[in-house]
Amino acid sequence: MTCEEARWLEFESEEARAHAAGCAECGEWVADGVALRGLADEAVPVPRATRRWLRTVVAAAVAAVAGVWVAMVPRQEIPPPPIPVVAVAKPVLPAVEVQVPTQAPVVARRKAVAPLYLKIETSDPDVIIYWTVEGGEE
Ligand SMILES: [Zn+2]
Repeated sequence: MTCEEARWLEFESEEARAHAAGCAECGEWVADGVALRGLADEAVPVPRATRRWLRTVVAAAVAAVAGVWVAMVPRQEIPPPPIPVVAVAKPVLPAVEVQVPTQAPVVARRKAVAPLYLKIETSDPDVIIYWTVEGGEE
C-alpha cells in the first residue's frame, strides 16, 4: 500500500495503522488524527460568569453618572408662542327690501292631451311599425 492509498482510508482503520507502523510520515498523520479526535471529544470549558457583579456595578455607575449629568444640565425654558391677535369687524350689509306676496300666484290648469299613435308602413309588407307618443299636459 502506498502513502496516498493509506490517506484515503480512515486513519483508525487496521490497514492505515498497519501502513503507518512502517512509514514515519503516515505514522505522524495517524497520530495527528488520533489527537484531533481526542480534542473533538473533549468538552470545552465554558467560562463562568464570575464578573457579573462587576458588570452590574459598572452599569449602575454609568446610569448614576448619566442621571446626575441630566439633572445638572440647565434646562432652557421655551416660552409659549404669543397669542395671535385677530381683528374682528362687523360686516356692513346693505339693506335689502323684501317683498312678501299678499296673494297666492295664479296657476293655470293644463289640459290633458291624448297620446299620439303613428303607423309606419315599410317596403316590406310584413313589417309595420307602430309608434306611440305619450300624451301629457298642454
Ligand atoms: Zn506512508
